[in-house]
Amino acid sequence: MANGEWGASARFSAIRDIQGRNPRKFAFPTDESGRPLRISEYFGQNTFNLDQMKRRLPKEVFQKLQSTIDSGKKLDLEIANTVAQAIKEWALERGVTHFCHWFQPQTGSTAEKHDAFISFDGQHRVIEKFSGSQLIQSEPDASSFPSGGMRTTFEARGYTAWDPSSPVFVMESTNGKTLCIPSVFLSYHGDSLDEKTALIRSMEVLSERARELLRQIGDSAVSRVTPTLGVEQEYFLVDRAFVAHRPDLMMTGRTLFGGQPPKGQQLEDHYFGSIPSRVQAFMSEVELELYKLGVPVKTRHNEVAPSQFETAPIFEEANVAVDHNQLTMEVLRKVALRHQFHALLHEKPFAGVNGSGKHCNWSMSLIGGGSDDGENLLEPGRTPHQNLRFLLVLVSVLRGVHKHGGLLRASIASSGNDHRLGANEAPPAIISVFLGEQLTKILDSIERGEASGSNTEAAVLKLGVNKLPEVLKDNTDRNRTSPFAFTGNKFEFRAVGSSASPAFPVTVLNTVVAEAMAEITDRLRKKMSSGKSRDESILELVREVTTETKAIRFEGNGYSEEWVKEAAKRGLPNLRKSPEALAQMASASSKSLMKAMGVLTEAELVSRCHVRTERYVKNLLIEVDTIRQMVDTQVLPAGFAYHGILAGQVAACKNAGIDSPQADTLQKLCALLNSLKFKREELEIAYHQVESLESEEEKALALSQTVSVRMQELRKSCDELEAVIADDFWPLPKYREMLFIS
Ligand code: ADP
Ligand code: MG
Repeated sequence: MANGEWGASARFSAIRDIQGRNPRKFAFPTDESGRPLRISEYFGQNTFNLDQMKRRLPKEVFQKLQSTIDSGKKLDLEIANTVAQAIKEWALERGVTHFCHWFQPQTGSTAEKHDAFISFDGQHRVIEKFSGSQLIQSEPDASSFPSGGMRTTFEARGYTAWDPSSPVFVMESTNGKTLCIPSVFLSYHGDSLDEKTALIRSMEVLSERARELLRQIGDSAVSRVTPTLGVEQEYFLVDRAFVAHRPDLMMTGRTLFGGQPPKGQQLEDHYFGSIPSRVQAFMSEVELELYKLGVPVKTRHNEVAPSQFETAPIFEEANVAVDHNQLTMEVLRKVALRHQFHALLHEKPFAGVNGSGKHCNWSMSLIGGGSDDGENLLEPGRTPHQNLRFLLVLVSVLRGVHKHGGLLRASIASSGNDHRLGANEAPPAIISVFLGEQLTKILDSIERGEASGSNTEAAVLKLGVNKLPEVLKDNTDRNRTSPFAFTGNKFEFRAVGSSASPAFPVTVLNTVVAEAMAEITDRLRKKMSSGKSRDESILELVREVTTETKAIRFEGNGYSEEWVKEAAKRGLPNLRKSPEALAQMASASSKSLMKAMGVLTEAELVSRCHVRTERYVKNLLIEVDTIRQMVDTQVLPAGFAYHGILAGQVAACKNAGIDSPQADTLQKLCALLNSLKFKREELEIAYHQVESLESEEEKALALSQTVSVRMQELRKSCDELEAVIADDFWPLPKYREMLFIS
């Protein structure tokens, strides 16, 4: 037997397979004459959108549905029956056979349970049926979804309810089509068990508080304020053949070891580089699928690391954007397989290589109010009044982030993001806000009182506030190291992890800003009722809040050690790992915030904290189990085999009375194998200690402290071994192969 064959042969055959791959061709939609359709001709064709509703519903039903969507109220059953009928006809025309309530339990992804449209009529004949109540509500067997103690097993019932603000859509798979009804997921007693309910509640309260603030400054025509969200999704693509030989990628989504390749991202040649043709073919198919689902994907490009890419849509209302991000992740995963890729959405699939984030671009838009319709509240305007409003909204965001930085940090905590945050190449674990030079200058001079006095008009002119839009437009300074950065007319929450649902981070963001706006409205009201002019009061308040929230603002390098020290001086929390971050969810201020804003009851918030802690523990335990198996059944055997060969050669030389050039390597290998075995034992001990702990919180802490350190040490040994063992003995696809062969 050639010795390498059982070791590296699988790896080598994967490489051969990959080299024979071609970009996958697929059919773009055409009309009958074969003319390729424009995107605008098939965009949203798999959604029951406004257009379809208008066309297929009686006028008064359409209007009632429309106002239900606008007001967020429950649909009455009579209308629901008519709507369901129209949806059914539309779906059947498309060859749809099943329907499901599509919801977002707290697993980070989506859940669905399919039912066929079939039913019996009175004469035992099969017909297609879909009723209003089936559209509005469903009762999935909810006992298997995480609830964090919200549901005891004897009351396992939960129900899902249609969220009409997100369009119904048809999901196509190879041999079938399913009608998906975006839904919220509640316990039998009405407690939120999912990601969407809280998000929708937070959107409502933000709208209310923003409108009150706007009314206080004289803008009373606005009927709704809605948070907008544009989600940049980063991901890696790795060939399926490699993934099949990496148990760690299969089980945990990241490599638990792997030596660094000689070339990484240091040449900076990948970012915005030309897209490899196999990848380009994949991206086009992803976009086609997403367009049909009505997801407005706009941007695609290579990211910083080799084999890392990004896709970003045009922003939409936050709850629709959240649904669309879930669809994007799902389509990325599904279509990747067709192209013989695996889409890795993990925050850190490869140590030492750039990680993946999900930059959540967030702002607020005005709805109703005539000329202001669709206007962005974080867009400086043409008049001093609009710009004073802008500053007021801006300091509301500062206030919210300053007061609840810990909770925002908790909202992005996950086992995957732990490898990114604070790891010197991603946003730090310290939440701070970056505003950019120009805006900082303006706030600084307001703070210094350079433009005070009762003549606000003059003051505003003096500050250059009237020139804000031009100033900000021309000024595109960026800070990639900031977790939360102002980028001209929106904030970019960059610290969100690539695999996470944006729902909870955005829920928290909406809520903290809603609370801050309520406080600011109150303070403004007091100033104005004490006789000060409106504009003077605004300016004074902007000054006060700027001073109060100064600690949260940071313009420098977020990756630097100095910032860690400086942040500590300022009293900002530095919550490096998930367990400590998640504990913030149970803090008194988080509880009172969520309760006061009506977004989550205390029980709902605490249950969310449990769910996340539990998930953290489970993810780490899976990693530990995987690394144990890989070390025992792949790495050590490879080492032993190579050791056997070298030892045989050394012995043969000795017998022949000649020098053995292998002797050094054999010695080194021996030492490495012994140290690997020792570290493997150490991990085992730490693991059993975790098993003996009572609570999930204790387990999480122990995993994040001892176990993860032991895993890292074990990894180091494996990586050293990889560098010593002959290439054709190494069974696992190497970093250089996974990242560079395409
Ligand atoms: P950048 O200059 O940061 O590259 P882009 O215009 O490419 O900005 O936007 C990045 C993301 O931010 C996109 O998804 C975009 O739709 C989104 N975005 C732009 N404006 C807003 C807004 N007002 N609210 C929310 N997201 C926005
Ligand atoms: Mg990016």
